[in-house]
Amino acid sequence: MIAATGYVATNAGEMLTPFQFERRDPGPTDVVIQLLWCGVCHSDLHMVENTWGFSPFPMVPGHEMVGRVIRVGAKVTKFRPGDTAAVGCMIDSCRTCVNCDSGFEQYCDAGPVSSFGSYEPGTQRLIFGGFSSHYIVDERFALTVPASLDPARAAPLLCAGITTFSPLRHWNIGPGKRVGNSRNARFLRCTWNHGRRRDLAGVSGERRIRATQAQ
Ligand SMILES: [Zn+2]
Ligand SMILES: [Zn+2]
Repeated sequence: MIAATGYVATNAGEMLTPFQFERRDPGPTDVVIQLLWCGVCHSDLHMVENTWGFSPFPMVPGHEMVGRVIRVGAKVTKFRPGDTAAVGCMIDSCRTCVNCDSGFEQYCDAGPVSSFGSYEPGTQRLIFGGFSSHYIVDERFALTVPASLDPARAAPLLCAGITTFSPLRHWNIGPGKRVGNSRNARFLRCTWNHGRRRDLAGVSGERRIRATQAQ
């Protein structure tokens, strides 16, 4: 087991408090990531508040993670120790359905496994998220982060950023196109690093959308 620390809510709506726990042992295709930054997405707040009525507790939220790879399984090919890696809102899926085969694991027929507030397939252990010191994930669900990208600014791209960017790309949004704005884009503005807050307005999807609108 891997010793980890995090910030936990023990019941709906409670303040997060320091928490010590153990991550599972990494398997042959897993990477162990020492987390450096984790974005704060509004879904984290909804889950902690149990707005949607299905939050399991205790809960360590956080699903916009960036960190340093400190260990890799024997069959890992994408990462080496020292690499910067990122994890978003999804960490597993059935891997066999037509959607998984097509690279659309988010539409997995069995439902994707969320990076917190869900249960590990097989063990049914509750999964703790990225407001923590370490994370373990199959390399298929980890992303490489180029050295040129500030890891703090990369973190909010893992959920809020891709949620904004994906439809822009899907609909080929560019000069001359008109798009609607969403309140959600404003949630990109801060990241969490053990209590410190950092403004990220420079990379917010809100600005990207507004820039597109202005063209
Ligand atoms: Zn699937
Ligand atoms: Zn999110």
